[in-house]
Amino acid sequence: MERYDFASDNTAGMAPAASRALHEANAGTAASYGEDRWTKRLRELVQELFENDCEVFLAFNGTAANSLALAQMCRSFDCVFCHERAHIQTDECGAPEFFSGGAKLISTTGPNGKLDLNQVAAALAKYRDVHSSKPRVISVTQATELGTIYTRDELAQIAEFARARSLLLHMDGARFANAIAALGCAPKSITWELGFDVLCFGGIKNGAAVGDLVVFFSRELARDFDYRVKQAGQLASKSRFLAAPWIALLETGTWLENARRANNSADLLARKLTEVPGIELSFAREANAVFVRFGNTLARQLDERGWRFYKFVEPDVYRLMCSWAVSEQTIEDFAADVKQFATNTD
Ligand SMILES: *Cc1c(COP(=O)(O)O)cnc(C)c1O
Repeated sequence: MERYDFASDNTAGMAPAASRALHEANAGTAASYGEDRWTKRLRELVQELFENDCEVFLAFNGTAANSLALAQMCRSFDCVFCHERAHIQTDECGAPEFFSGGAKLISTTGPNGKLDLNQVAAALAKYRDVHSSKPRVISVTQATELGTIYTRDELAQIAEFARARSLLLHMDGARFANAIAALGCAPKSITWELGFDVLCFGGIKNGAAVGDLVVFFSRELARDFDYRVKQAGQLASKSRFLAAPWIALLETGTWLENARRANNSADLLARKLTEVPGIELSFAREANAVFVRFGNTLARQLDERGWRFYKFVEPDVYRLMCSWAVSEQTIEDFAADVKQFATNTD
């Protein structure tokens, strides 16, 4: 029997509000290439949400959003400092390097998926002259790839560090909504107010089907970005179908509600799993991910039961992602299976 797929939060479908909006936008004709009323409205809504006169662009997915944003921020001889677990480093097939025409990603270590400024400083010290790439950007992921969340203070320290060295700041916010839901703060307070220049704001894991946003808090930096988007094949002619679901998510507050649901589901899952003797979390549960150690036998038995998830960190750390769509019953059922298998074997 096929059971819930915890492999990612993008295994879920569209949120009902987003799906309805998609169908409503299907009526009649509309101007193409982002000149439609939906894309314009989306821009306004994002500006309202961030309380900022930001520039807003759509890309088909997060990889395109991140890569084009970084390509816009970097010259071909620049480099970007990020965490070794950063999606831009591990999961984008070299797209940031490709689209920037040579800008290099420099990965650094740090506990819990977060940048450690001492490590960044040590790495930076090696990039001083024309023989190495020129430091240009610090990129953070919020929420991180290990399901943790930077506090506002931590981001402020990174921002101050960047400012002192004239570096730009990029935020991969594929799960920005989950971070906002967890921190309970205004979106501006962890972005432009701290000096972040660009945010890639994810909608897909939050309940859209396609279309993540690139938000520039500096108009100057956004100059001619529309050309870059078009050249990369990321300008949707039927832009309304990307924009309408986003509008629905933002206007109804579903974006935050979905993020809260996903976070709460992960919290419930973490609590249920740690009630099972021998099961421990590998990282603090702060957003919508739960990382646990499973023995091989247990992982195989769960797989045979039809549960989908995968090993994230060798040798035995598995990632369970909760989307907005996972039900409490599903979590109870999964935890019951874990409990049954964990107590019978190993
Ligand atoms: C999902 C995700 C992305 C975007 O991935 P796509 O598959 O390209 O949409 C970017 N960053 C992080 C941290 C992600 O988890």
